[in-house]
Amino acid sequence: MADCLFCKIARKEIPAKIVYDDRQVVAFEDIHPQAPTHTLVISKSHFATLNDVGAEQEGLLGHMMLVAARVAKDKGLNTEGYRLVANCLEGAGQSVFHIHLHLLGGRRFAWPPG
Ligand code: 5GP
Ligand code: ZN
Repeated sequence: MADCLFCKIARKEIPAKIVYDDRQVVAFEDIHPQAPTHTLVISKSHFATLNDVGAEQEGLLGHMMLVAARVAKDKGLNTEGYRLVANCLEGAGQSVFHIHLHLLGGRRFAWPPG
């Protein structure tokens, strides 16, 4: 999508600290980290929210989660633990309307989340 921030990052039109890149997804460091590790995994194709993803994207969604786990392992988080978050709509805190997973690690996390 022409005007979407994360589409622009996926197309490398806006700089980001990219830590993983393949045909389907890009992972890059969040600009306002909420933990020592705060990496975003986005799809290269545009879907505004999880509500807009159908059964055809099952493979893509699984791939996003596997990439998040791989980045977590690369960062040495696989033993201490990490959290994956997907916010859907404003009510849950979504601010960029292009699907993404937050990979958070490097500190303790409370439950339930705020
Ligand atoms: P959401 O609130 O939609 O779940 O997550 C969006 C995330 O994108 C936020 O954590 C925010 O800090 C991050 N973000 C917003 N704009 C940019 C940007 O231009 N570059 C990067 N790297 N992250 C961004
Ligand atoms: Zn987009």
